[in-house]
Amino acid sequence: MKRVLITGGAGFLGSHLCDRFIKEGYHVIAMDNLITGDIRNIEHLFHLPTFEFYHHDVSKFIHVSGDLDYILHFASPASPIDYLKIPIQTLKVGSLGIHNCLGLARVKNARVLIASTSEVYGDPAVHPQNEDYWGNVNPVGPRGVYDEAKRFQEAITMAYHTYHGLETRIVRIFNTYGPRMRLNDGRVLPAFIGQALRGEDLTVFGDGSQTRSFCYVDDLVEGIYRLLLSDYAYPVNIGNPGEITIREFGEEIIKLTGTKQKLIVKPLPTDDPKQRRPDITRAQQILGWEPKVSRAEGLRITYDYFRSLPEEELYKAAYHREFVKK
Ligand code: UDP
Repeated sequence: MKRVLITGGAGFLGSHLCDRFIKEGYHVIAMDNLITGDIRNIEHLFHLPTFEFYHHDVSKFIHVSGDLDYILHFASPASPIDYLKIPIQTLKVGSLGIHNCLGLARVKNARVLIASTSEVYGDPAVHPQNEDYWGNVNPVGPRGVYDEAKRFQEAITMAYHTYHGLETRIVRIFNTYGPRMRLNDGRVLPAFIGQALRGEDLTVFGDGSQTRSFCYVDDLVEGIYRLLLSDYAYPVNIGNPGEITIREFGEEIIKLTGTKQKLIVKPLPTDDPKQRRPDITRAQQILGWEPKVSRAEGLRITYDYFRSLPEEELYKAAYHREFVKK
């Protein structure tokens, strides 16, 4: 039985990856410090003999007994609100955290796949973004802690590949959505749906002309799974090229939820990228991958998930602050 370690395993993407690898017949070890992850995302796996959970911070020394075939490094705060609140942890998990994973991978002779991001392109001057574009990142802006950590993470991963001959994979993830996103993580989709469910107006930042391209989580997981099993060590974009302005997106959510509320304008956050759309030619050619789930279908499933949560979730204080150490 193949054994996989998934850091950030209790998070939105990490927990979906746990599900996928369990389904594929792997022994899964999920590691998470539960700062932004939520144990409830993986609760349904605890009874399985092929599933283990380590409540641990990957930025500290990690020990895993037994063999490991794969390590997927998905631990990181991933929403602008989160990494503004915990900037140092964000930098550490993208630097010390991946260093620990790479060291462990050498000892275990495991293959490492890292979760990188479209944020490595910053506020892109090239559109759509292909993997050869080096990006336009402000290192000292509010997003710098995330963007630069992820860029460093790619650099150190590539160095272990070229210097130590370690097997490595790099996925650049574009905006992804689906069940288990945190209602209060500040991202646009849970923000809009949460507002609609509470009967509040939907907050569009800036004039709403900025664009994003939203990928449904199952499509993303499929792309990651194929990349892991491929022999390609350079970065691969995985995302849905269906681009939409945030204003139009708000209108779609109003229609989907049937809310009587309207869009209202709030200030645009600093360094908010103006446009974002993945060029997925490489994923198509190398992995034979492209997204299958339409936005209408994905949003419907996601809305049903948020609607099914207990009502108090909607009003819960914003943050798992008690876990955050200075
Ligand atoms: N946004 C918005 N209203 C919100 C939250 C976000 O208009 O309540 C905008 C945000 O300014 C950005 C886009 O939606 O332009 C996507 O934001 P998100 O935080 O989801 O992710 P990003 O792609 O910026 O990392």
